[in-house]
Amino acid sequence: MTRCLNCGAERDSDICDACGLGSTEAEFSLRRKLLNRTAVFLLGAIAFVVAANRYPALELDNILIFIGVLFFVTLGLGMWVERRALRHAEVEIPKRIYYGLIPVPWLLAVLLLANGAIDSSPAHPVEARVIGKFSMPGPVQSRRLIVDSWREGRRVERIPVDRQDFDRINTNDVIVVELHEGLVSIPWVSGVSRE
Ligand SMILES: [Zn+2]
Repeated sequence: MTRCLNCGAERDSDICDACGLGSTEAEFSLRRKLLNRTAVFLLGAIAFVVAANRYPALELDNILIFIGVLFFVTLGLGMWVERRALRHAEVEIPKRIYYGLIPVPWLLAVLLLANGAIDSSPAHPVEARVIGKFSMPGPVQSRRLIVDSWREGRRVERIPVDRQDFDRINTNDVIVVELHEGLVSIPWVSGVSRE
């Protein structure tokens, strides 16, 4: 007993009773759906990176690492489902997990946007000394000021900044970080200024 690759119904002949597709047509149908959903997922990943940089979280780097891991796990799962579909093997459970992961970057993008955009809490100015700078070129450029941490149990903070702030602030400057609590308690940085 196998399941139809197209509709998931159990079937015991080549033609599925539920949707009327043969096993090869069902395979093509599934692979077309996989491709479409993968496109939605990839767009979501881009939307997430844009959203994450709009109201940058204090933990932006850890958030980006998390979404990076999720990205490769999800794509790996999608490729595995497609390979099983090529062999006409059972795909129902991994396919549902894959489909479930597709909207995740979109949901996280909305969460991070709302966290900053709908946050009406006043900024908490925090003083910190710059101990280093880091910039990564590429399509998604990232610029960070490395500062002494003001939080318990942490040595440094990596503050996301734009190009102007990155260029005018130097190591050993004392800066004021405008920190917000965030609507869903993800602290984010609205800007920095020099003392
Ligand atoms: Zn079917």
